[in-house]
Amino acid sequence: LWGRKPFISGNWKLNPQTRDEAVKLAADIAATVTPESPDADVALFVPYVFIEAAQKSAGDRLFVGAEGVCPEIKGAFTGAVSATMLKSLGVQWALAGHSERRVIFGESDEYINGQCLKLIEQGMSVMLCIGESEAEYEQNLAGPVCAVQLRKGLAGITAEQMSRVAIAYEPVWAIGTGKVATPEIAQSVHATCRGILRDMYGDAIADQTRILYGGSVTPESVDGLMAQPDIDGALVGGASLDAAKFGRIINFQT
Ligand code: PEP
Repeated sequence: LWGRKPFISGNWKLNPQTRDEAVKLAADIAATVTPESPDADVALFVPYVFIEAAQKSAGDRLFVGAEGVCPEIKGAFTGAVSATMLKSLGVQWALAGHSERRVIFGESDEYINGQCLKLIEQGMSVMLCIGESEAEYEQNLAGPVCAVQLRKGLAGITAEQMSRVAIAYEPVWAIGTGKVATPEIAQSVHATCRGILRDMYGDAIADQTRILYGGSVTPESVDGLMAQPDIDGALVGGASLDAAKFGRIINFQT
C-alpha cells in the first residue's frame, strides 16, 4: 500500500505567456519548498511547450506534469501529444478530465478513460478530475455525477494500478469563480467519492487513494480544507500562478 501522502498541485492552464516567465515561476515556486514544508508531493501541471524548461528550473523536489495527453500513441493525430512523448521527457503525472477539457474541448468520459489507460500503460500516473456543474449541484446531483465520471474514467484500471491514480474533485461552480466549496461541502463529496472507490476497488484501495479538492483554493482556504479527513490535497488554478500564494498553499498548516 502506498499511503495518502498529501498532494499539492498547480494547474497553469494557458499561462504564463513566455518561456522566461515559466522558468521564473517554476523556480520561485520551487524555492517555497523548504525542509520545514509539509511532507507532501508537489506537482505543477504546465503547458507542453514549457515542460522541459520548468523541469530544469524546478529541480527535483517538484513533479512537472502535463495538462493532458492524447489517448493514442502515434499516427495521424495532428496537434496531439502522446504518453510516450511525455514519458521520454521524464514526465510522471498528467491531468485528465479537467472540466475545461470536458466543456470547452468536448472531451467525453470515454476519451478521458483512454487518456487514463494510456498513461497507466506507459507506467505513468494520472490525476483524474471530476466534478458537477452548478445546475447539478443545485439539484443535489454532485454524488451521482461524480460516480458516473469516476466509473467511466477509471474503467479498465485495475486495483494494482490504482497506486498511480489520484482523483481531483473540482466542482465546476467553484473553478475560477472565487466561490470555494466550504470544507464541509467538499468533505461530504470526498467521502461520497471514496465510497464509490470502495464499491469499485474495496476498502484497502479506497482508503489509500488520494482525493484532492480543486476550485478557488487560496492561502486563506487551504488549511480548513486540508483539515478534513477525506481531503488529501489541492489542485490549484489561479493561485498557482503566484509563487507567494502557491507557496503558502504548499506550506499548508494542520
Ligand atoms: C482548476 O482549474 O483546476 C482550478 C481549481 O482553478 P482555480 O483554482 O482557479 O479555481
